[in-house]
Amino acid sequence: MRIAVISDVHSNLHALDAVLAHVGSVDAIWHLGDIVGYGPEPDAVVDRLATAGAIGVRGNHDSAACGGNEIDWFNAEARAAMEWTRRVISPSTVAWLTALPARREEADFTLVHGSPLDPIWEYLTTTAAARDNIAAISTVHGLNGHTHVPMAFSLDGDRMGRIAPSEGRTIELELDGHRLLLNPGSVGQPRDGDPRASYLILDLAARHAQWGRVAYDIDAVRAQMRAAGLPFRLSERLRHGF
Ligand code: ZN
Repeated sequence: MRIAVISDVHSNLHALDAVLAHVGSVDAIWHLGDIVGYGPEPDAVVDRLATAGAIGVRGNHDSAACGGNEIDWFNAEARAAMEWTRRVISPSTVAWLTALPARREEADFTLVHGSPLDPIWEYLTTTAAARDNIAAISTVHGLNGHTHVPMAFSLDGDRMGRIAPSEGRTIELELDGHRLLLNPGSVGQPRDGDPRASYLILDLAARHAQWGRVAYDIDAVRAQMRAAGLPFRLSERLRHGF
């Protein structure tokens, strides 16, 4: 079974379509939330994922789009984009986002947006936090997003390691009791200095995970954002991958 794991699409249909074309034929699409927010095409992104049968979890932007008070914690630009998102999204998009759980378990993996301990908000960036969070899941491995930076934490016995995986990096699954927390990075707004869309492929037969990147038409998205009146800095950061 070959699974595409994606996160933080953020209403960026050009980036999502580039990823879906790049991964080719997969048996499932798992998403880790923040489907909407920031970007210009929330309904089209939800429609694409729903049509593809993607399953996943809710992020802080998804909750805010459905009326949640997460918006109170957003900075000025995120808030402006969220107010725009709330005005334009369709009832069926709201229904699809509202139905997303905060966490779910699939095969050997727990899926969350932020972290297993705080699925909506925690930014999982340190080995100490990763240790606590691996202890909090009952599956072997965990998948999380939210930071917009590809990342892997590996617990081997008592040793916790951290890897910033580059494009094409492969990690073996379940070697001698290794437990992993894997972050695919962001499809629609990467923040690791590489503006290309980021994703992760899980190959459950070969027992490995591999990160991928793909370029997309950033200028087309920036033009859409300009036309929609979305904050300039949000479109500008897509060019820099930050
Ligand atoms: Zn996000």
